[in-house]
Order: sequence, then C-alpha cells, then structure tokens
Amino acid sequence: MHMIQVIPIPAFEDNYLWLLVHGAYAAVVDPGDAQPVLHYLQQHKLTLCAILCTHHHGDHVGGNRELLAHYPVPVYGPAHETIPGRTHAVVEGDCVQLPKLELELSVIDVPGHTAGHVAYYGAESLFCGDTLFACGCGRLFEGTPQVMYQSLSKIARLPDATQVYCAHEYTLDNIRFAKVVEPANPDLLEREARDRNSRANHQPTVPSFLGLEKRTNPFLRSQVPTVIQAAQTYAGRALTEPWQVFATVRAWKDALD
Ligand code: ZN
Ligand code: FE
Repeated sequence: MHMIQVIPIPAFEDNYLWLLVHGAYAAVVDPGDAQPVLHYLQQHKLTLCAILCTHHHGDHVGGNRELLAHYPVPVYGPAHETIPGRTHAVVEGDCVQLPKLELELSVIDVPGHTAGHVAYYGAESLFCGDTLFACGCGRLFEGTPQVMYQSLSKIARLPDATQVYCAHEYTLDNIRFAKVVEPANPDLLEREARDRNSRANHQPTVPSFLGLEKRTNPFLRSQVPTVIQAAQTYAGRALTEPWQVFATVRAWKDALD
C-alpha cells in the first residue's frame, strides 16, 4: 500500500482542508482559505503540487487564487461547476495523476449537495467534501433526494476499509440526530462515546471508516428495518422506496436543525 500522510488543516468554524503529503510535496483538497495552508506548507518546508476541489462553495474554493499566486499548480474541479483557477475539469471516470505524491485518485460524481459535486477516491481514502459527513450527509442545496440517495449509494459500494475524509467537523451534532432515529443502535452509542472523547481532547473525529458509517450513519441506512420504521413513524405513512426513507430522514434532520 502506498503511503501518503493526510493532514487536517482546520479553517473557519468547523472546516477541514485536507493536505496530502508525500516527501517534500503536498496537494490540498478544498482550500477554502489559503492562509492556514500556506502557513503549514512554509512551516514544514513543503511544496504544493496540486489543488483539488469537490464543489463550488466558498468554504471549499475560496483560497484557490491566493494559493495559485504562490504556487502555479494544476487545479482539479468538477466540470459542471465554476471553480476559481480550474485547469482540469473532471467528471466520473477521470483519473487525477499526482506524480509528485506517487498517487492516483479516481473521480466519482456525487451530485446532491451541489449539482456537480465530485469526490476523489484512492489509496483507500475518499475525499467527499460535503456529500457524506461522519454520521451525517450534506444538505440538498442543488439536488433532489433521489439524486443524493444515488450518490450516497455509490459511495456505500466502496470497501468498508475506506477512510472517509469529509470537509466539516459536524460529527457530534450528527450523532445527536442519529440517536433520534436509532436510539438503540449499539454501534452508534459506542461511536458517540469515542467521538465525544476525541472532541473533549480537541482531536478530529474525521476520518472515519466507511464500514462504521454503514453501521451508524442514518443516511446510509435507508434499507435497515429500524430506520425504515422510524422514518415511517415520522412521515405518518408507508415508505416503499429506499430513497423515500432517505428523503424523510433528511427532511427530519432539516426540521430539527
Ligand atoms: Zn458545501
Ligand atoms: Fe462546506
């Protein structure tokens, strides 16, 4: 297995900008702010070799221009969105070659949070922006529940050992809601204890394993009887399709936020 180091760079309230490091080189995923990235690169004598963006929101692309002023590197971003400084428009099936990191990432289309949102997958790691969160998922700003359900289903087909690098530290909030849906899920209660402890020690709860997400994240569990039951009770009617269960659980969380 190829070894890269993945470093979280905290930014704004609760964002993580992910830095992929190998030797003296680094690539950054979703640099919403350039300053903390530049600071880390300078401190650790690293040279930036690429910028990858998952979607067009400011907290994911806001630092592109300033980074480019220091490092004129390729910028990979979803083909169907406006990404500042983009040099490589990517769609599902494309491969992002990062020779300086000896790394190759494949592109997966995951629309729903935004219409053109992509994720990057490689080295048993998934950089999924605001699509899948630890124990949650992104809000549906530009997509229907059906579209987001398909995107999450695609992610769920990746190996359980995949590390999920999402872009926000929302985990404890998400767990609070997950417990409303599945108050007796033992994996969820165990996860809550562990993640609470991490946050109390100022540690990130991200990345998480996809296998754990499948056992605890209500947005990946639209086919699980307890979640179907809870969603039907909330909706007050029978839900026959998994995407309807997903849509109900998403609307349920929106109503509580
Ligand atoms: Zn976003
Ligand atoms: Fe975001």
